[in-house]
Amino acid sequence: MRVAVFSSKPYDRNSLASANAAFGHDLTFLEPRLDQATVVLAAGYPAVCVFVNDQIDAAVLAGLSRGGTRLVALRSAGFNNVDLDAADAHGIDVVRVPAYSPWSVAEFTISLLLSLERRVHRAWARVRENDFSLDGLLGRELHGRTVGVVGTGRIGELVAKALKLGFGCEVLAYDVHPNRRLQEIGIEYTSIPDLLSRSDILTLHCPLTPDTHHLVNADSIARAKPGFLLINTSRGALVDADAVIDGLKSGRIGGVALDVYEQEADLFFQNLSNEIIHDDVFQRLLTFPNVLVTGHQAFFTQEALSSIARTTLQNISDAEAGRALVNRVPPAQPRKAE
Ligand code: NAD
Repeated sequence: MRVAVFSSKPYDRNSLASANAAFGHDLTFLEPRLDQATVVLAAGYPAVCVFVNDQIDAAVLAGLSRGGTRLVALRSAGFNNVDLDAADAHGIDVVRVPAYSPWSVAEFTISLLLSLERRVHRAWARVRENDFSLDGLLGRELHGRTVGVVGTGRIGELVAKALKLGFGCEVLAYDVHPNRRLQEIGIEYTSIPDLLSRSDILTLHCPLTPDTHHLVNADSIARAKPGFLLINTSRGALVDADAVIDGLKSGRIGGVALDVYEQEADLFFQNLSNEIIHDDVFQRLLTFPNVLVTGHQAFFTQEALSSIARTTLQNISDAEAGRALVNRVPPAQPRKAE
């Protein structure tokens, strides 16, 4: 099938082109993000392949429909950037990659937590300047600390197990569907207020839905254990960044590591080192010594990219052959994050 691959970076081309040897699709790699300004590039392509910051809203779907596109293939699990009802109205199927290497995100979460707690990011900057002093680098051990895990699906389960079984943390969990495997190893499910008030470290692994939007806000920060660390590798809009800045300034929050940011679509996945950044909230976050930010790279492993490429191309083959779309996202779903 002819596929216009939007937001494609060199690593996407490598993984998709290499996996495509087994599928034989006609892939056209396009650098721009798919949005209302670029939808014209999809004209004549029966399928488009997109990522987390492409904007597949009603206007874009109307444009895709006019150009003859019948399939939107997401290279992600989440589909909160797609207007599913509009896609359905235009007869456009939406397929996704429901699961790929949860270890990629779980391992990165642990690496962010360790870096933040042991000041690795600051130490590396110092050593490069031949500054080998330790003042300001005093960390704390994870062993024996209490970690609250919100969302204990594929990724949250791995994080909870690593912290409980590997580091000897006390792990509290909250999920709308508690995970029996975690209960069996002594992980306690509790309410969000109780988890907040008892956790030294809060790590987010639930999807972005109307229920979880700004889960971390001024009110929850006020109820949380003073000095807690916040780790978010899930979705930016789970966190109200303004409230986090206030929490950092007042000391209510002891440190923050973010791989995702609510307004990341204008920033991440591109080199802006020669640009003026106009997002003052993001820039303020970067000024804190106890904040560590990465640009949505938790998924970014060789294993995950290969898995994403294979599933995406299989989804496209299924659509081309008229087979059942096992990874189709039906309309009228609650919006979900990547
Ligand atoms: P999953 O679907 O396996 O697990 C999500 C869990 O969240 C489920 O157990 C679900 O019951 C729970 N949940 C749903 N609504 C909830 C709510 N209101 N409160 C608490 N829990 C709730 O998903 P996963 O594969 O573990 O991924 C988790 C999240 O990680 C994704 O939603 C995505 O936002 C994020 N993610 C980030 C990256 C990255 O590169 N940073 C990559 C992949 C996924």
